[in-house]
Amino acid sequence: MPQRTFSIVKPDAVRNGHTGAILGEIDKAGFRFVALKQQSISKRQAEGFYAVHRGKPFFDALCEFMSSGTLVLMVLEKENAIADLRKLMGATNPANAEEGTIRKQFASSIQENAIHGSDAEDTAAFEIGYWFAGYELI
Ligand code: GDP
Repeated sequence: MPQRTFSIVKPDAVRNGHTGAILGEIDKAGFRFVALKQQSISKRQAEGFYAVHRGKPFFDALCEFMSSGTLVLMVLEKENAIADLRKLMGATNPANAEEGTIRKQFASSIQENAIHGSDAEDTAAFEIGYWFAGYELI
């Protein structure tokens, strides 16, 4: 059964011209692009998205960063999409990311780390619903 996950090309990667290369990696890995849109978001929208991180020392800087420029929001589908995308992304800190992963290739710091991917089924469902309306997911 195909599974859906939610992903973002973060503002650092868009600013640095890596959008096409990152979408290419996702495509090559066999994901179907169910929905995709490019937009910028407000700090308030970022705070709602990252609500689970509220209270952490990096929360404010993270939300500033995520609202600092254009990003690409995506719903992706394949067998085992959630775990496979996390593997393709690499570790949160690019210094610890495996060779060939998106973060190893395109991220510059633990915060400006190029890509987001949902970490579980319940967070994927929340994140897809947060950014996309039902009519965008047909
Ligand atoms: P992810 O699932 O790999 O994206 O990592 P987390 O859910 O733990 O964190 C969410 C995002 O917060 C990360 O992708 C980073 O952009 C940022 N972040 C996580 N840990 C840190 C940190 O220690 N410092 C800073 N500045 N940002 C962090």
